[in-house]
Order: sequence, then C-alpha cells, then structure tokens
Amino acid sequence: MIRTPRRWWLRRSLWFRITLIATTITLALLFGLAVLAGRALGPLLIQSVDDELTAVLAPATAQVAAGDQPARPSGTEVRVLDTAGGPVDGDPPARLGAEDIRDLKAGLPVRVGDAPTWRWLGSVVTAPDGSQRLVAVGAPMVGFGAAVADGSRWLLLVAVVGGLVAMIATWLGVRAALRPVGRMRRSVRELPPGRRLPMPEADDELRALASDFNALLTRQEEVSERLRRFTGDAAHELRSPVASIRVQAEVAVTNPDPELAQETLTDILDESERLSALLDGLLTLARSDAGELPAAEPVELVTEARGAAGRLPDGSPPVRVSAVVPQAWALATPAEVELVLDNLLRNACRYAETQIVVSLLASRSRVRVVVDDDGPGVAREHRGHVFDRFYRVADDRARTSGGTGLGLAMVAEAVRRRGGRVTVGESPEGGARFQVIWRRHDG
Ligand code: ADP
Repeated sequence: MIRTPRRWWLRRSLWFRITLIATTITLALLFGLAVLAGRALGPLLIQSVDDELTAVLAPATAQVAAGDQPARPSGTEVRVLDTAGGPVDGDPPARLGAEDIRDLKAGLPVRVGDAPTWRWLGSVVTAPDGSQRLVAVGAPMVGFGAAVADGSRWLLLVAVVGGLVAMIATWLGVRAALRPVGRMRRSVRELPPGRRLPMPEADDELRALASDFNALLTRQEEVSERLRRFTGDAAHELRSPVASIRVQAEVAVTNPDPELAQETLTDILDESERLSALLDGLLTLARSDAGELPAAEPVELVTEARGAAGRLPDGSPPVRVSAVVPQAWALATPAEVELVLDNLLRNACRYAETQIVVSLLASRSRVRVVVDDDGPGVAREHRGHVFDRFYRVADDRARTSGGTGLGLAMVAEAVRRRGGRVTVGESPEGGARFQVIWRRHDG
C-alpha cells in the first residue's frame, strides 16, 4: 500500500513529472507570496489613512495652540476636546470611549465602530488660556474591508494564472527539450549492427549520452568479436585431436593388427590427454570470463614455487629457487598460484637447455616471481601475443610438445583478475624471462 503512490509516480513520464513538480512549486510560491501580500495590504491601507490624518492633525494642533478654530477638511472630522474627552468645540460629544481618549492622549491611533470603522489620531496641546486640549482627527475607513478582500482576491487570481502560465511554459519547454531524446530512442531502435548513433548537434548531456552509448557499442562489439574468435579457435583446436582419435580408431578397426593396436592406443591416449587439457583450459577461461572470482587469501609463494618445481617431470632441467625474503605472501588463491607457477615452469622446462631459476622478490606492496630459463627465449615480435588465447610461437613445436596455446592465456587471466601483471622479456641467461607481480599480503 505504501509503495503504491511511488509506483504510480514512477510510471508517469518524465515530461509529466517535471511539469507537475515545476507547476506545484510555482503555485506554492505564488500562493505564498499572494497570502503575504494580502496580509501586508491591510496595514498599508491603514498607514495611508494615518498619513492623511497626520497631515490634518499637525495644522489643527497648531491652530488650537494659537487659540483659533481648527480647519475641517472634507472627509475628516476634527474635534477639540478637554483632557477627559468632553467637547469644547460646541459640537455633540465625540463617539470616543474613556479608553480611546487615554490612547489618543498617549499618541496612539484608535479604531472605533463598525461599518464604517473610524480611525482617530490625537495630540494634546496647551491653549493660550493655559488649558490642556486634546485635538482629535478622525476619518471613516469606507471600503477598507472590501479593498483588502478585493486585493487578496486579485493576488490569488494572479497566483493561479501565474501557475497556469508556468505549467504551460514548463510543458512546452520539457517537450522541446525531450524531443531529441525521442529521436535518439528511434535511432537506437532502428540502429543496424555495426552502426553508431548520430551525434546530436547541441553540445549537451544528450550528446554525452550518445557518445557514451557509442563507446559502449564499440566495447560490446569488441567483446563479441573476441568471443566469436575464441569460439572459432576453440572449435578448430578441438577438431584436430578429435579427428586424429577418429582416424586412428578407424585404422585400428579396419586393420586389426595386434602390433599396431598398441601404438594406435598410445597415440589415442596422447590425443585424449591433449583434448582433456584443452577442455580444462577452456573451462578455466570460460569460468573466469563469466566473472567467477573466489575470495583471495594470502598464499606463500616460496613454498608454492618449491612445490611447483617438485611437480616437474623426471629428467627436467634443474630448478633453482632463490628467495630474497624467507616468505612472500601474495593475495590470490592457492589454485591460481599453482596454475601460474605450473604453467611457467612447465614452459621453461620445455625450452630450457640446462637450468631454470625462480626468483622471489618482495617490495612494500607487491611480490614478484621471476622465472628465467636458458632456452631460445621469446622473440621480440611475439612478446605482445604469447598471452593471447591459442597463440603459439612455433606451431609445430608446440603441437608436438603437447601445448594447447592456452597456458599463458590462463596465467595472464589468473594474475590480471587479482590486480596483478605478467610480462615476458629476456633472461640474463639468454632465454625467456617471465615476471609475475601480485599484490602483497602484509602477513
Ligand atoms: P602452450 O601451452 O602451447 O605452450 P602457452 O600459452 O603456454 O602455450 O605458450 C604460448 C607460446 O609461448 C608457446 O607456443 C611458446 O612458443 C612460447 N613460450 C612460452 N614459454 C616459453 C619459454 N619459456 N621459452 C620460449 N618460448 C616460450
């Protein structure tokens, strides 16, 4: 129930919402101003009556002080009273109570009666005979209430008309402002693949939105292009071991030679292993592409490096693990560190002539693993590509050595997603140098 007005509001168009908000604010402001002006109208009118009365009172008091009869301008009543309020000008008693007389003597204005109300001002003077006289000047406030009511009505009318004008102006303004949005929506709906949104002429937020949208399209196209290439490459890579297994199996079936069978089965086993390594790699990369990211934990690299060296097959060149620090903790997962070290060491072992050196270094915020070998190294022109999926420097050699072309891609992915970096360069031993940098755990 509580959410209903909000839902109703959110279902309205931007156009409607802006118009309603602007109109409501304008109406509230104008009504507020009208009420304030209406309140000020009464005191203003009274002030103007008081000004008129003061203009009559001043000469009248001067005349009484001089012993003359005061002048009586039309529209006002001028009375000369004793200090008790009794008339001394020969006219009938003034319609002023004892309290009014006291206020007038104190110089305060007085309102008396109803329809019309009279406004009085007074001043005490000393007549030439030494007696104290109260000179009182009064005027009827005819039409005062009507003027205030009329004024207030006009002000409210102005507020309503102002609100209406604001509503129409906002409605038209928002419609004009949103027209390019409508055009942009149509363009988005009809946009053919590979094309970009036309940029609006005005250098405003909509132009920025169109530009951001076009940049997003470019990124999306790059992603789908990469995915398309990856799927094509994967299918291509999978095809050859499957085809090989099939051919070998067919040969074995058509020529049931027990001597050949053993050889065929060994080949089939090799190809199956290659196939399974390929599928494992593809699965790992697909999981990473899907954004799977297990929580990082501190992993001790010296121990892991020794473990990876120990996992190399018998007959591999010797591996020297040289650590500047007794322990180096990286922020990753043990599985990622194992994948990275196993791949780098396996590659180094494949190409090294006599030895492999694994060095571990640590700075304040980073830990670095450097794998050097004394093999042929990676030529400069291939260095930018060896981390690409399915990239092999020498196709034939990698194939015969059982490589999938996914090892370094997995290494790069595992390191990158932890905010680290992997590079390839030249080792002082003459071979390849792979460097992995992870964020360091302070533990
Ligand atoms: P693969 O599993 O086929 O070896 P990788 O992604 O691990 O694929 O390596 C990509 C290419 O990088 C390989 O084809 C290989 O030629 C080259 N490479 C990797 N490590 C080394 C190294 N230590 N020395 C020379 N070349 C290397």
